[in-house]
Amino acid sequence: MAVLGNPQNTIAVLKKYNFNFQKKFGQNFLIDTRVLEKIIHASGVTGEDFVLEIGPGIGTMTQYLCEHAREVAAVEIDKNLIPILKETLSTYENVEVIHEDILKMNINDLVQKKNQGKAVKVVANLPYYITTPIIMSLFESQVPLDSITIMVQKEVAERMQAGPGTKDYGALSLAVQYYAKTEIVANVPPNCFMPRPNVGSAVIKLTRYKETPVQTSDERLMFALIRASFNQRRKTLVNGLNNATGVPYTKQQVLEALETMELPANIRGETLTLKQFAELSNLLL
Ligand code: SAM
Repeated sequence: MAVLGNPQNTIAVLKKYNFNFQKKFGQNFLIDTRVLEKIIHASGVTGEDFVLEIGPGIGTMTQYLCEHAREVAAVEIDKNLIPILKETLSTYENVEVIHEDILKMNINDLVQKKNQGKAVKVVANLPYYITTPIIMSLFESQVPLDSITIMVQKEVAERMQAGPGTKDYGALSLAVQYYAKTEIVANVPPNCFMPRPNVGSAVIKLTRYKETPVQTSDERLMFALIRASFNQRRKTLVNGLNNATGVPYTKQQVLEALETMELPANIRGETLTLKQFAELSNLLL
């Protein structure tokens, strides 16, 4: 089987199987070997690793992963891609293609079975509308996780890395930065995909912290405070938290906590750092 990752071979495979791209599955296949090499290099996958690939498409990145990893599980939702993957991956014995919707799968069971519960590396080029739910569910679940190297919309990568006082800073920045070290590995223009997407993309590596960088006694409360603050960006923190879901505190209690933190009463939530949100949650608890 020819190595994929260039336009000619991708077109040949798609023609042979008379494949029709499905918009609902966000199918944009990578056709640039330099980008593929960057992803593999950044993922740090070695011969010791079990890798979970989400959305293998026709198996372009999967071939690279099989060359580098001990074992690969590739989860693909589109049944029309399964026979194609069978052919494009036929020379590899260290891969299992799983025909499933990743959002409905028990990833923990898979990791237990394939990697005896040791930390897994995830590599993915997914439809953009499911990247955030997948990243958050991987972090929040009990799946033992080393890192996620993932292609996302360029703006989303920037939001994940943003700090206080910037327009990109929001609940996603804080959630990702609570769990992981972030590193943008590559910017990927639309012409690296077939068909071309309408937006620029970026590969971001999220390396899970062994210990979170800030300590909160109640993660759920801290994230409720964060969500409430950014749901109403224009309001002061005190007004934003008033009557917000999951935040059962009076204005007076919030004001007292802010005073203890030596922050002004009219501060906006969007200017608080992750450490300050953790501190606020500990004071209110
Ligand atoms: N990894 C391939 C590449 O880089 O060429 C394909 C990337 S394409 C952007 C996204 C892939 O994810 C498609 O193959 C699509 O069918 C698959 N996909 C979409 N939703 C999925 C889901 N919920 N579970 C598993 N795979 C999914």
